[in-house]
Amino acid sequence: MNVLVLNCGSSSLKFQLVDSVTETRLARGIVERIGGQALCTYEPRHGETRKHAEPIRDHAGAVERVMRWLVRAGDGAGVLDSPGEVHAVGHRVVHGGESFRTHARIDAGVIREIESCMDLAPLHNPANLSGIRAALALFGEGVPMVAVFDTAFHSTMPETSYLYALPYQLYRRHRIRRYGFHGTSHAWLAQRYAERAGKPRDAVDLVTLHLGNGCSACAIRQGRSVATSMGFTPLEGLVMGTRCGDVDPSLVEHVALKEGMSLREMGTLLNKQSGLFGVSGLTNDMRELLDEEREHGDRRATLAIDLFVRRVKHYVGAYLAELGGAEAIVFSGGIGENSPEVRRRICDGLGWLGIALDPEKNAAVAPGAEGEVGVDGARVRLAVIPTDEERMIARETVAVLADRPAQG
Ligand code: ADP
Repeated sequence: MNVLVLNCGSSSLKFQLVDSVTETRLARGIVERIGGQALCTYEPRHGETRKHAEPIRDHAGAVERVMRWLVRAGDGAGVLDSPGEVHAVGHRVVHGGESFRTHARIDAGVIREIESCMDLAPLHNPANLSGIRAALALFGEGVPMVAVFDTAFHSTMPETSYLYALPYQLYRRHRIRRYGFHGTSHAWLAQRYAERAGKPRDAVDLVTLHLGNGCSACAIRQGRSVATSMGFTPLEGLVMGTRCGDVDPSLVEHVALKEGMSLREMGTLLNKQSGLFGVSGLTNDMRELLDEEREHGDRRATLAIDLFVRRVKHYVGAYLAELGGAEAIVFSGGIGENSPEVRRRICDGLGWLGIALDPEKNAAVAPGAEGEVGVDGARVRLAVIPTDEERMIARETVAVLADRPAQG
C-alpha cells in the first residue's frame, strides 16, 4: 500500500511516498515559496535529486506538481505508473485541540473540527487544511485520507500536567492549556526504542529529546506521553533555534513598555529573534555555533550552547523525577542525532542519576543511524534514534484505515 504523506506549511509542501508494507521511502521532496516562483526539489529513491523553479500559485498547484513527478512520464524519475497507485494520503495536522485524542479518517465532520481548532494554531492549521482540500480536489473521495495530529500523542497527559495554574475559567472558556507538539516524533521514538529493545511500546518508560530547530522533551510512561515541554504553543520549554522557550511571562509587558513594542512584535521577538540566535547574535544553527566556538572561541556562541544544554538537563532531571526513573533517554532531531558534542555536554555531570555516556560509542554513531551511546550496565540507557515523522504518519494512516488503534 502506497501512502502519500503531505506536510503543508504556509508557503511550503513537504511530501514523501512510502510503501507501507515494506516501509520503504519511494520518493520525497519539497515545494517551497508557494505563491510565487516556487523552488521544487524531488528525490526519487533511485536516481538523482532534481531541483528547479516554477511558478506555483497555491497548495493545489503544489500537489499537482508532486503528482507529475511521482507518476512515470518518460523522464525516468517517476515511481508510479498511474495516480491510482496512491492508495492513501496521510496529512500532518499540527493542532487537534481537545477534539482529536487520536488520528482521524478525514470526512466533512473532521474538516469542520479541524477548522474549529484554527484559532489555536493560526499559522499552521490553515495551511494543513489547504493541503487537505487540495488533495481532496485532486484525488476525489476514492482515496482515503487521514489527519495525523502533532498534539494527539500528548492527549494522554494527566490534568495536572496539562493545566496551567491560571484561573480555571480560562481553560473552560478558551481551552487554555498545554497541548504539546512534536507528538508524531515522540511517538516514533518510543515505538522505535521499544522495537529495538524487543518490548511492546507500553512496556517502556523514557525521556525523549527532539532537538532540532524546534526542540521538545517528553516524559513517556508505559509508552504514553505524561508530560512535555512545549505548551499552549510550540514556544514553551527548551531553548530552540530562534524561540526562547521558558521565560517569566511578566517580562513580556515589561519589555514591550521599555522597547515600545506591540504584543505582536513581542510575539515575533520571542519566536523569531530569541533562542540560539538571540543569545549568540550569530545564528540559529547549532552546527555553526559549535564551529564558531571551536574555531574562534566565540564567547556568545559558547553562552548560547551552554544555555541550550542547561535547559535540556533541567528537563531531563524534571522528567526523571516525574517518571520515578526511566529505562532510557532518547536523543533525536538534527542536533540530538548529529552532535556527539551536545550529547556529551547534556550528559556531563549526571552520573548520579545513572547516566553515563561512553565517549567512543558516542563518537561512533553515523549520521542517520540508530545507536546506543551509554556505558554498558549504566542504570539509564542512552539511545540515538533519528526521527522519522513521515514514516510514523504513514504507519498511523494505515492503522486508522485498518481500524486498528492508532499508535500515537
Ligand atoms: P527541523 O527542526 O527544522 O527539522 P533539524 O531536525 O534538521 O531541523 O535540526 C536542525 C538543527 O540540527 C540545526 O541547529 C543544525 O545545526 C543541527 N545540526 C545538524 N547537523 C548537526 C551536526 N553535525 N552537529 C551539530 N548540529 C547539527
